Amino acid sequence: MTLLSISDVTTGYGPTVVNRNVSLTLQENEVITILGPNGAGKSTLLRTIVGLVKPRGGTVIFNGEDLTGRTPDILAKRGVVLVPEGRRIFAEMTVGENLRLGAYARTDTEAIEADVGTMEAFFPILATKRHQKGGSLSGGQQQMLAIARGLMARPRVLLLDEPSLGLSPLLVKEIQAIILGIGKQFGASVLLVEQNAGLALSVATRGYLMQNGRIVTSGPIAELKDMS
Ligand code: ADP
Ligand code: ADP
Repeated sequence: MTLLSISDVTTGYGPTVVNRNVSLTLQENEVITILGPNGAGKSTLLRTIVGLVKPRGGTVIFNGEDLTGRTPDILAKRGVVLVPEGRRIFAEMTVGENLRLGAYARTDTEAIEADVGTMEAFFPILATKRHQKGGSLSGGQQQMLAIARGLMARPRVLLLDEPSLGLSPLLVKEIQAIILGIGKQFGASVLLVEQNAGLALSVATRGYLMQNGRIVTSGPIAELKDMS
């Protein structure tokens, strides 16, 4: 079933057009990737999907509902969540507090508390850190916390922007395992943007190649591998 359908989306900042007529789909229980050079417009597309950037044209349909131009809190409530690039966690808040913030659009208080434990089990690196401040964590731990915070929203679609940026090879392996486990553990589909093509190609089953704001190629990962 198609969970997310982006059709003909055009976006930009001020007078600058970034994405032009971008279309893509994401199915239930699927990991897909958008590859492409720096500045191609991948992050802008992710921000547009969650409502941080308003599209100038096109539609964002989630689960049959037109959510084009809706605000990020509405998208989060429906289950479309972005983990932005750059480990944007709250340094002065504890790991537990950071996690609970990710559940801001939820109202099931007891399940939220249980999910803090779920995240500690799913992210072993966070297991003993609940009462530590976010700022005291290593870079890799902060990145895991950022992903865990996104999952606290119990998303149906998780958008990951460069989760492996600046991580050691060992932690990239861990991110790989986490991404592969998200479908089974949380029933969420993943749209991954990565500079690390090796990682992206190892977790995704389909992909899109973006250049100058446009999708220039799409297909099964095996075909994209042949081209990259
Ligand atoms: P990618 O994620 O593929 O690296 P981005 O979406 O970050 O690409 O950037 C696409 C283009 O949009 C770049 O030229 C970038 O400088 C520009 N851009 C990104 N964010 C902003 C912004 N907030 N205001 C103006 N221009 C931006
Ligand atoms: P990303 O590839 O994730 O967009 P960038 O380094 O391009 O990362 O952007 C980091 C931040 O700077 C983002 O918030 C982005 O919106 C902003 N930014 C990027 N390019 C520009 C630009 N040309 N003008 C204004 N803000 C920008």
